[in-house]
Parts: sequence; C-alpha cells; structure tokens
Amino acid sequence: MNAPTEAELSTRRSELLAVLHHQREAFRGDMSPSRPIRADRLNRLDRLLETHADRFADLIQKDFGVRSRTETVIAEVMLSRAAIRHAGKRLRAWMKPRRAPTSLAFWPGRSLVLRQPLGVIGIISPWNYTLQLAVGPLTDALAAGNRVMIKPSELTPLFSEAFRAAVAEFFAPEEVAVVTGDAGTGKEFSALPFDHLVFTGSTAVGRIVAEAAAKNLTPVTLELGGKSPAIIDASCDLSSVCDRLAWGKLINAGQTCIAPDYALVPRTQVEAFAQALQSSIRKLFPSFQGNPDYTSIISERHLERLRDLVTEAKTLGARVIEPEPPQDLPAGARQMAPILLIGVNDQMRVMREEIFGPILPIVPYDALDDAIDYVNRRDRPLALYWFGADRANRDAVLAKTISGGVSINDTLAHFAQHDLPFGGVGASGQGHYHGEYGFLRFSKEKPVFVQSRFSGASLIYPPYKPSLGAL
Ligand code: NAD
Repeated sequence: MNAPTEAELSTRRSELLAVLHHQREAFRGDMSPSRPIRADRLNRLDRLLETHADRFADLIQKDFGVRSRTETVIAEVMLSRAAIRHAGKRLRAWMKPRRAPTSLAFWPGRSLVLRQPLGVIGIISPWNYTLQLAVGPLTDALAAGNRVMIKPSELTPLFSEAFRAAVAEFFAPEEVAVVTGDAGTGKEFSALPFDHLVFTGSTAVGRIVAEAAAKNLTPVTLELGGKSPAIIDASCDLSSVCDRLAWGKLINAGQTCIAPDYALVPRTQVEAFAQALQSSIRKLFPSFQGNPDYTSIISERHLERLRDLVTEAKTLGARVIEPEPPQDLPAGARQMAPILLIGVNDQMRVMREEIFGPILPIVPYDALDDAIDYVNRRDRPLALYWFGADRANRDAVLAKTISGGVSINDTLAHFAQHDLPFGGVGASGQGHYHGEYGFLRFSKEKPVFVQSRFSGASLIYPPYKPSLGAL
C-alpha cells in the first residue's frame, strides 16, 4: 500500500477533528451525565458484546490464522463483560462526592472532592487482545461519564472494522466513535487535543504518542510492554508451578503483554525446571499440529522476527530445547512451537527485546539478591511473577523490585482483578486503570471548599494587625 499523500493526511486530520469537536460539543451539553445515563451506556456496551461476541470471535480467529476460541471467549469477551458489569454495579458509589477533612482554622467550612468526567478520551489499542484492550479502557471512560474515540489495530482488520460497525449500531457518534486505520491514522489520532489519551502498545510507539500528546498538554495513560520476569524460588515445588507458568507463557502463543518473558531459576535447578516445564507444556498441548487451542503468530513478519531471535541466540551459544516429539507445524499457519533457551546472555536480542512469542529463556541465579539485581538492572517490567513457599524471600522480592504488577504463585491473574490497579511503571508504562482506578483515571477529582456564614476568615484581611505578622 502506498503511503498517504499530504492532501489525504490533511483530509483524515480534518475528519478526525470533526468527530472530536462533535463529541466535545455533545459533552458540553451534559458535562455531568447522571448515573442512569452512564448505566445505559454500559448496558449498551454489554449488549453490543452479547450480540456480536460470536462474530467477533470468528473474525479474530481469521485475523490471527489460528486463535483459540476458548482464549478469545475467556480473555476477551468474558473479561470485558465482567468489567462492564462490575462498573455498572459500582457506579453509584464511585460517582459520590467525597467528604475531606477541613483544616481547623477554616471550621466550620466544609471540604469535598467531586469526581467529574474529563471530556473526550482517545484510546489507541493493539492487536494482541484486540477486543479486550479497546473495550477495557472504554468501559472505565464511559463509567466516568466521558465521550470516547477509539483507534483499534490495523493488524486485526476484520475485527476492527466489525467493531467500528457494531459501535455505530449501539452508540451515537457523539458518544463513542471508532476510527480504523494504520500507524499513519494512529499518528494523526494521537495529535488530537483529547482530554486524555490512553495508548496500549509497544514502548517505542508509546514514546512517539507521548510526545504528540505533550504538544496539546493532553495527559496520557501509557500501557506498554517489556520483559516481565518469573522468579522461581529455591523453595518452589516445580511440579505444581510449571503448569501455571506454561499457561501464562503460551496463552495467545506468548503474545501477551504480561506474559512471563524469561525465568530466573536457581542454578542447581535449571535442568529440573526445564524438564518440568517441558512436561507441563506436553500436558497443556499434547500436540501443536492441528491444535485449535494453539494460537498463530499474528503475521509472517512477527514470526520471522521470533525465528531470528532463536537463530541468533543459538549462534551465540544458547542451547535450544524444542518440544518432543518434534512438531511439524503446517507452513502458512504461522504457528511456532514453544522453545526454551538455556545459556543466554545480554548480547542476544532475545534478552534485550520483549519476546512476545512462545520462547522462554532460562536465566540461572546463585543467590536471591542476584536475581533481584538482574531484574533491577533492566527497565522496570510490566509484571513480575514469583513462585515459591518461602515468605521471607517473597517479601524480599516484593520490597526490592518495582514492576507494574505482581502475581504470586501464578501468572496473569492480577490483570483479571477488577479492584486492582493495572498499569506499568517506567518503560512499561504510566498511569493505571481497571475498576475504580480506571474511573478515577478518566475523572477530574475537583476539590471544593464551601465557606460557612460564620467564617473567621475576615480576621486575616488587611489592614493587617502587626501581631499577625509576628513569627
Ligand atoms: P504497536 O505499538 O505497534 O501498535 C499499537 C497501536 O498503535 C496500533 O493501533 C497502531 O496502529 C498504533 N500506532 C502505530 N504507530 C503509531 C504512531 N506512530 N502513532 C500513533 N499510533 C501508532 O503495538 P502492537 O504491536 O499492536 O502491540 C504489541 C505491544 O503492545 C507489545 O509491546 C505489548 O507488550 C504491548 N501491550 C501492552 C499492554 C498493556 O496493557 N501494557 C497490553 C497489550 C499489549
């Protein structure tokens, strides 16, 4: 496809601006939507998913090649609908103004904090959980009373177009509008003067988006990626944890922002760990060939990159452990059997880049502090996993590392908790959402002081008494 001309870009820019202005006008007409109006928007979003879930799952499957339908249902549809219902139930409590203590000198005045919608929220979403990562922030933004524009990923074109049409069926364009397009459209989109912009995607594009938003002083929530470690403690019972680790790594074929990227394993347990993990993988996926539950890599380019990571690691001395018996995956299905890597080092791209595929490097450590240091010498990860039974070690890891979120003795589970804030830190993102945290992310917490008739404030008005200025 040819790059769009300057004239086309400027047409697209004015189209996007027109939608934004339309939404902003409508917002001005009702700047504090009532609870029933917000509940109705959430209900419509839920009905949209109920009506179109099956078709969405079919289209996502086509976009991927092979996409486990169960994974689509659980991780995209069910998770999204559960969050919508959670928000619907909590709306009344979330919307209530909060009383705040008033400083003694201002008594009997009162202080409170109002939670007001921000206006128009922009959402740019990625392809890996293409439905969930558009609907998740949309839910929180609607609950908070905002209007929303969404730019979904061009790498799931069938879903993104169907989602655009479904949103137009359930929402007026001044409530929610979906704009489809590639990175060029994303660029135009991120330059719009939104009241808040949520970007979910790679760290590299996140930097560009943050820069574009800064020009408008638009606040951003950046949900980015990175290398999330799984620390296996010496106290860990390998047989019981490897299923959880293998599932978290291989759901969506490793194309999950919070997938464990690499495992830190006590040096003496590396071989036992690799064997236990291999056997968990065999249990979860007895075969890869023709297995509808083993998702494809999203594109030939992404698959090629993953293969290159393995080839380079092998060339630089890593040992590659492939599934047994060897898997003969059909060409064209873009599936890649899971690979464990032993003997990796920092020269290898596989240890410098987010993997985002079914490759798990195993990094040995001697003492727990070495594992903690290894994590802390790198960018702050989006997630960190710790497996073990030793509470002191667990607490040391929690206290001495900084990451977006943590699951203990499991993978991914913290993401699915409605009442936990989700978001990265440092290179893995900024700001968090989900549940009430998302409601607040898309609200202005407005402080209000209400003066009493009996205020003593006039005591400090001029002409000032000399005694007031004495320290
Ligand atoms: P990406 O950054 O390539 O694209 C994400 C979105 O940004 C797409 O809609 C794309 O069209 C748009 N885009 C591309 N270039 C742009 C530009 N210059 N300006 C504005 N928008 C632009 O990411 P991806 O490949 O779709 O997704 C994979 C990445 O997303 C991984 O790094 C993964 O870790 C991360 N991710 C993070 C989370 C999270 O919640 N933190 C969730 C899922 C994925």
